[in-house]
Amino acid sequence: MKDGTCPKCNSATVYSRLNGMSLGDGGIHVYISSEWASKAVRGSRHYICTTCGYFEVYIEDKAKLEAVTKDWTKIG
Ligand SMILES: [Zn+2]
Repeated sequence: MKDGTCPKCNSATVYSRLNGMSLGDGGIHVYISSEWASKAVRGSRHYICTTCGYFEVYIEDKAKLEAVTKDWTKIG
């Protein structure tokens, strides 16, 4: 997705914007069992494919990502 090609339909119609969408109250909530459980992430980059509508969201808050590695279940 970040290279400009949609992983779902292979179209090169991917658009990106920092905080381009609002999921929830002006941010994206990443739930972890700590004191920031209810705090929204403000820095997130969104990618949308204008051919099929698929979208991806990347959290750019390094502290939040670090907290996720401690609290979430790693896949694989
Ligand atoms: Zn697509």
